[in-house]
This record gives sequence, C-alpha cells and structure tokens, in this order.
Amino acid sequence: MSGSAKLTRIASNMTPAAAAVPRLAEPNPIATTPLWWDGVAPAAATRSVPPQRVDVLIVGAGYTGLSAARETAAAGRSTLVLDAADVGGGCSGRNGGQAAYSIKPSFETLRRRHGADQAFRIRKEGAAALAYLRSLSESEGLATGWRPVGVFVGAHTRRHYAELAREAGEQTAGLEQRITLVPKASQHAEIASDFYHGGSVYEDEGSVDPACLLTALYRRATEQGAEVIGRCAVQAIGRAGDGFEVQSALGTVQARQVLLATNGYSGKLSPWHQRRMIPIGSYQIATEPLGAERVRALIPRGRAISDTRRVVVYYRPSADGERIVFGGRSALYETDARACVPRLRAMLTQIFPQLRTVAITHAWVGWVGFTFDKLPHLGSRDDLFYCMGYCGQGVPLAPYFGMRIGQQMVGDPRGRTALDGLPFPSRPFYHGMPWFLAPTILAYRWFDKLGI
Ligand SMILES: Cc1cc2nc3c(=O)[nH]c(=O)nc-3n(C[C@H](O)[C@H](O)[C@H](O)COP(=O)(O)OP(=O)(O)OC[C@H]3O[C@@H](n4cnc5c(N)ncnc54)[C@H](O)[C@@H]3O)c2cc1C
Repeated sequence: MSGSAKLTRIASNMTPAAAAVPRLAEPNPIATTPLWWDGVAPAAATRSVPPQRVDVLIVGAGYTGLSAARETAAAGRSTLVLDAADVGGGCSGRNGGQAAYSIKPSFETLRRRHGADQAFRIRKEGAAALAYLRSLSESEGLATGWRPVGVFVGAHTRRHYAELAREAGEQTAGLEQRITLVPKASQHAEIASDFYHGGSVYEDEGSVDPACLLTALYRRATEQGAEVIGRCAVQAIGRAGDGFEVQSALGTVQARQVLLATNGYSGKLSPWHQRRMIPIGSYQIATEPLGAERVRALIPRGRAISDTRRVVVYYRPSADGERIVFGGRSALYETDARACVPRLRAMLTQIFPQLRTVAITHAWVGWVGFTFDKLPHLGSRDDLFYCMGYCGQGVPLAPYFGMRIGQQMVGDPRGRTALDGLPFPSRPFYHGMPWFLAPTILAYRWFDKLGI
C-alpha cells in the first residue's frame, strides 16, 4: 500500500439530511461511531490520487463495491473504488450484522408478480446469498466474525405466533428453511424476557461482525489489485467515447466501465437511480459492557433477534459478547443519532426491564436503501452498471450481488441472477426524498400498538 492518505475512523453520516442536523449544544459522552470499529483499524486508502485511466471505476466502497472490485480485479481489469466517506463509511460499517434469509417478498407475492418459476428462482437467491456469506468464513477462512447462531424472531401477539407457526408449516417445496417454533412457555431458553408470545428460530441464519466483514472484503479486493480511495466523492459521470469520464474530488478519471454501488446513499449523481431508491435512517445503540455472563443470561444462545412488529427492532450480543447492541427506527423524521437514545433505550428496556439502569455508550445511524418492490436491483442502464436496494438485508445480499455484478461486468456467465432484467420501479413525483415515511411509520406504530 502506498499509504500516504490515511483514512480516519468512520464518523460521517453522509446524507444532506444528516448534514443539516444541528450539533447537540451540550457535550455528550456518547460516541457516534459504530461500536464495531472500537479497536479495529479502519481500512486505509491504497493510493492518495486516482489514476487517470482505469478499466473499471466503482462508486461506493461498501460490501457491494468491494465485492464487485474483487471480481473485476481478479479478471485482470484495472479497478478503482472511490467513496465519498471513509472506506465502509456507509451502511457496511454501520449495520447490525444480522444475516438472514433475505429476500423480503414472500414466494406467493413474487408468484403473483413474476410467475411461479421466477418467484422460485428469486427466493433461491436469498439462500445463495446466505450460503456465500457462510463460505467467505467457512471455506475461504476470512475473519468476518460469522457466528452460525440462528436468528430468533419474537411474536408480538398471539396471532403473530400463529402466523409464524403457519409459515413454518406451509413452506414452498424446495425453498424450505430449518425453522424451530418456540412456544411462550419455553421462550426463556431464547431470551430472558416475557415481552413476546413465543417465536421462531431460523436455524441456518446468524450474525457477523460488520467491521470484520468489511475489512475482509476490502483485503480480498486489494489483494487482487483493486485500488481503493476514501473521502473522494464522485461528482459527475459523463460519456466519453465508448466509456466514461468521471469527475471526482481528487481529479478526473477515464473509465471503460462504471458501477454505482451507492445503495441508500445514492444521491443526485444519477437522478434515475435516486428516483428508485428510498433512503431510510436506521439507528443503533450499544450498552456499556455488561459482562459475558450477564449477556448470556439475557440471550442464552447468543442469537441475533428481531420481532414481528411492523416498526422492526433488531438486537444481539456485541461481537465480543460483552454488550447488547440494539437497533430500530425510533423517530418519525431523520435526526441526530444521540437524539434517538432515549427512545431506543425505552424500546430496549420494554423488552429487558433488567437493563433500566444500564448506560449507553454508542449511538449511530446509517441510511438503508429500500426499493418500491422490496427487491434488490442490478444490471446496467445506458451502459452504467448498478447494484443496490437490499431493503435492510444487505449483510448477506450486498457481498453476494456485488460478486454477481462484478462477474457480469467482465462477461462471466456465473454473474447471471434471477433478478436480471426486472423493471426497477419508481413512483410519480418521487425524486429521492421519502415524504411518505413519517405518515407510514406513524400508521405502523398504531398497527403495532393494536397488535394487527
Ligand atoms: C443501522 C443499520 C443496521 C443495519 N442492519 C442490518 C442487518 O443487521 N442485517 C442486514 O442484512 N443489513 C443491515 N443493514 C443494511 C446493510 O448494512 C446494507 O444493506 C449494506 O451494507 C449495503 O452495502 P452497500 O455496499 O451496497 O452500501 P453502503 O455500505 O451503504 O455503501 C454505499 C457507499 O456509497 C458511497 N457513495 C454514495 N455516493 C457517492 C459518491 N457520489 N461518490 C463516492 N461515494 C459515494 C457512500 O459514501 C457509501 O459508503 C443495516 C443498515 C444500517 C444503516
């Protein structure tokens, strides 16, 4: 590495909305950097100035961009990855590390939209993504912090428990997951809480350490020869001959191919994509160290946990098993991560009243990229490649689809996916500012309160 340009720890929130948030007047001891980066060296730039010409330029150094870079560099294409923030400064360094079977729409929903055959193949991509994530750790030996602990989903009401039971019993042939139902009477084997009406364990799912996964993908990409530069925003992408001219904060680069791997941080760089991506803030807190024994008493099997409410919460033991990391949507409008602490803490202690007096040491936010059809989208438009829209499931999906789009860019037939060629929907009058979010959250809160 020609390490003259060092990258500092992830600190930026990146969206214009976040930039406009006033700083808290009082000094506050709560760190706004993700817990995952405590004691972990951030990924550094491989060079300080971009080269003038590359085969492949990738915008966004998260799981998608780095995974794609690994493939294009391995195929012998000179590859440059640029990020406006630090390397991994988007969601990839900020997430909850939960790795679930990750295609959101059900088989039935997809069957109605796309027919049974494609629905089946799309759902299969979720399993393939999870398998790929596992293989990074188990076959390639990468240190991703992968823990095959399973995910417990708590039922918010008795009716939700019945729905979980039905879902487990009526799985589509060929798409079965290993699901164990946990009735309320034995719930304490999963969680020291009476908050839920039982739940389901998704046995093949698990968790990673987000910072370790990011670092592992970065290493694999740079080992193959990809160059990575952070704090270098791409400002414009224009056509030049049969390629592109890319203007960045550190100079102009001629690129034969360009990939947008900007997910929830997709801004006006490409208005067509901005009109199709819905950025939604997700907020997390970490407790002070509680000690491994106390954490094990709260979550005996160390599983990642979420529940059936519409306004989703997700939580788990920290990677070192000493704390609880808790996330969700706490505000109607995007706000400062620290401003969310009281509400997130209240949500945490509703589940674990035992934690009422525990201190919060970290609070952070990142922008999840949703789509109108709740599916990821990848492909190319006007020769500009893109891969994005994981709807909060990018821990398994982004490395996997990043790999696939990288393969597509070099003409490798393994890059084909069941999502290729799907229309990427937008909505009239939508230009990237989700005005409908606050009323939707408000309605969802009511539904959750009423248990429907
Ligand atoms: C708080 C939180 C919790 C989450 N928890 C989970 C979870 O438990 N499980 C799960 O599966 N998923 C989770 N997610 C979602 C998951 O993290 C993302 O889906 C995934 O990281 C997306 O990776 P990516 O590489 O596509 O995008 P990102 O990691 O967001 O990277 C996009 C990058 O593009 C860069 N960029 C944008 N515009 C430009 C530009 N003009 N020039 C240069 N760079 C630019 C940004 O700076 C950013 O770094 C969570 C997300 C958040 C925020």
